[in-house]
Amino acid sequence: MLLRFWGTRGTIPAPIRPDQVEGKIMAALSEAGQQQINLTDPQAVQKLARELSKTFKSSTVGGNTTCVTVRLEDDLIIFDAGSGIRELGDYLMESQDESVVRLGFRQGKGHAYMFFTHTHWDHVQGFPFFKPIHVVGNVFDIYHIHDHVPDALARQMHQHFCPIRFDRLGATLNYHQLEEGEQVNIAGASITNIQLNHPGRAYAYRVVADNAIAILATDSEYKSLDYVSTAKYINFYANADMLIFDAMFSVRESFVKEDWGHSSALIGADIAREANVKQLYLFHHDPATSDDEIMQILKQTREYLGEGDNLPEVLVAMEGLEVDLTNPNMTDFYIQEHVDHDVIFMTLSGKLGAHATEQFRQHLAQSLQAHQTDKVVLRLENLSDLTMAGIRALVDARKSVLSLALVGIPENVYRVIELTGTTDFFAIYDTVEEALLALNMHQR
Ligand SMILES: [Zn+2]
Ligand SMILES: [Zn+2]
Repeated sequence: MLLRFWGTRGTIPAPIRPDQVEGKIMAALSEAGQQQINLTDPQAVQKLARELSKTFKSSTVGGNTTCVTVRLEDDLIIFDAGSGIRELGDYLMESQDESVVRLGFRQGKGHAYMFFTHTHWDHVQGFPFFKPIHVVGNVFDIYHIHDHVPDALARQMHQHFCPIRFDRLGATLNYHQLEEGEQVNIAGASITNIQLNHPGRAYAYRVVADNAIAILATDSEYKSLDYVSTAKYINFYANADMLIFDAMFSVRESFVKEDWGHSSALIGADIAREANVKQLYLFHHDPATSDDEIMQILKQTREYLGEGDNLPEVLVAMEGLEVDLTNPNMTDFYIQEHVDHDVIFMTLSGKLGAHATEQFRQHLAQSLQAHQTDKVVLRLENLSDLTMAGIRALVDARKSVLSLALVGIPENVYRVIELTGTTDFFAIYDTVEEALLALNMHQR
């Protein structure tokens, strides 16, 4: 899975200012002087420029607002349409690269999937200027959770705001509304979502493909930082190879600007560590924060995490950065939970094996304690594999939960339970309704 950042700013585009360009040139020349670089030697200059780009002295995190793509073979998935999507559109229309030409957007034979986190300006404002939507024949399958996404995209192109008419767009737009927590399987990827704490709601997406997990979790405030409040996010982000995290504010600001709906790098560090994330990408940079300040935030976050095994690596999401994700040891397991009428519903996804059982045990124990109930429905329809360690964890769960029901067990998973001769250990139901009926009987 090839992930690329086209826009990493939050709120409003923030192009680099002339005085900032001057500052970078001066810093680079001063560094060249100190290192006694021969400025007439192009190779030496290029080497220095590369070195300086790591500290943003010869580069920038960029000024465009949110747009991220995931490329899987010949499939393209676009997340959000902030001003960065204009650059993406130009690239798709103009690049001579064979892998881009093959996608066919210039000839009106292109197809892409689009997912929206929400419709604040910084996540939709580039849409009218995304050239491939003006080419007849291109097709976009647009996924969203909020009801208002189709209307918001059209309304921002009303002539009061925009010279381009929505009803004259050339491409075909097919809308697909998703439920909260619904999983979609497209282009060899499985994509799920979770609601984030943000004015008007935003959604994070978890993308599992090519043996890797990437999570886009932008525009979110984590107000209460205790485990009970953050557990559902830690679960959703669990074992990700890459977590793209809203790091707009400093921790201090996130306390002062309560209910603005954003978070900070240090809070991201805590959550990434708890969730066993491999790489944490700081994202949704404040438009008022300079490259130097973002570099400072990066250093502070690394200092805060310290050194040790299995700690997340902290990086900065910058425009144009491409990350190739594959993970031979991927552990795809996470839990989604909701509580309704005293019953905890847990949907287990991925592989319930040795790497996942501790997470499952902890989550169950914390959830039972937080909700003060002993009725649990385990929905297993998204479970891909079950190992002996997983069976052990389920048997232990049965001991700690008075009323435990297993629902929607896939055939291959059921066969594993059969092979272990433990089917009679569990209350197994085809549907949630049957399970609820039995749980309530149990109560009486
Ligand atoms: Zn935003
Ligand atoms: Zn927002």
